[in-house]
Amino acid sequence: EKKRDSKTIARSYHLPPTTNLSTHDITGPTLHVQKGNGIYIYDDEGKEYIEGMSGLWNVSLGFSEKRLVEAATKQLNELPYYHLFSAKAHDPAIDLAEGLIKIAPWASKVFFANSGSEANDTVVKMVWYYNNALDRPKKKKIFSRIKAYHGIAVGSGSLTGIPKNHADFDLPIKNIYHTSCPHYYRYGREGESEEEYATRLAEEFEKMVVEQGGAEECAAFIAEPVLGAGGVIVPPKTYYAKMQAIVKKYDMLWIDDEVICGFGRLGDMWGAETLDIKPDILVSSKAISNAYLPLSCVMVADNVYQVLVTQSKKHGVFAHGFTGSGHPVACAVALEVLKIYEERAIVQHVKDVVPHFWEKLKTFEGHPLVGEVRGIGLIAALECVKDKATKEAFDAGLGVGAKVAEFAQTHGLIVRNLGDSIALCPPLIITEAQIDELLSRLSKALDDTLEWVKA
Ligand code: PLP
Repeated sequence: EKKRDSKTIARSYHLPPTTNLSTHDITGPTLHVQKGNGIYIYDDEGKEYIEGMSGLWNVSLGFSEKRLVEAATKQLNELPYYHLFSAKAHDPAIDLAEGLIKIAPWASKVFFANSGSEANDTVVKMVWYYNNALDRPKKKKIFSRIKAYHGIAVGSGSLTGIPKNHADFDLPIKNIYHTSCPHYYRYGREGESEEEYATRLAEEFEKMVVEQGGAEECAAFIAEPVLGAGGVIVPPKTYYAKMQAIVKKYDMLWIDDEVICGFGRLGDMWGAETLDIKPDILVSSKAISNAYLPLSCVMVADNVYQVLVTQSKKHGVFAHGFTGSGHPVACAVALEVLKIYEERAIVQHVKDVVPHFWEKLKTFEGHPLVGEVRGIGLIAALECVKDKATKEAFDAGLGVGAKVAEFAQTHGLIVRNLGDSIALCPPLIITEAQIDELLSRLSKALDDTLEWVKA
């Protein structure tokens, strides 16, 4: 029997997301994934790969969690779908909302959507609705950061601060601004300490807020605790305290985007705990359902919720929601995820393996290609540079990062290159022995890339 030529079929009919449409017919898809097991995936020829990125930073419990399959199947049999519009309710959504508030007790209410992008579009509208409720029609400006990733829809894509996500799409929309990316290695000045750098960024942010009308017009600041797609960037230690002081001073809301950082990634349930952030609104997704089904949430503090209620009193319905908001099957899966986190102490497991991960990963600083090793918990990046002493980057056209990812794949490891930074975000269930195997495959990929650069 002739083997199905899946690559040709994929190229014939599929318009792929986030792909170079002009070259994918020639070069891709380069990996046709067929099966998953634990931290591993397998291609259509049976070759095994460690998924060093948990897919798209999301499959934290791995690719074969049977309990989630059973939870989904049970829910599909009982009530495969119902909506939550006009005060309808069902157990999976109610129970999940309760479960989430238990692990984020500072919040009082949870709104559900299907993706991080939808959740952040929701946030933009909530911030505007909130200020309409308070009769502050001018207070609509939302601040994000250069290199932030908050999604790809019109609102969330505007919050994103990555130029290629704006170019060609007429983004950002109005009322959205971007302040500096807090990456000391790249943007700290000669002789400037991390502390001084954090102060400079906070002063720059405050200046921007004042220029944009201060408390009267500035409504919110949104931040990922660790910037993910922008390159896995952990801000300097005092940065968040300084930024929070400004947000408070101008009576703005703090939006905490934990689409990647939530659910144990940084070593606590929330990145906000690890980095001492006090959110007014928290957005999460991805690991919430172990990515088996699309689901996201927006958690709001009670003081914010009470203001939203006053607007409904004046104008009726909070006219925002998705057909799939609180989908019962996705919620049932997420409830099982919460149970697994508790029963198997997943966050404690992360705390246990993190010292080993960092001890081994830090040795990559000695590699001739690696300028910086950065990250926290089980999220990291290695930045490849041309000159370690001067931090000079490689010519972007050379595609060094892409080459590392390509070599890694030949050695049975999936990583993602963000420019010349190589991101790692392995499933949280990874063991110390598997960490060693992952890093040994990565080391081979870097050595191959070094040979390729020299050639
Ligand atoms: N926010 C962050 C921090 C993300 O990393 C992502 C996706 O990677 C999003 C939002 C958007 O999520 P989605 O791709 O589910 O729309």
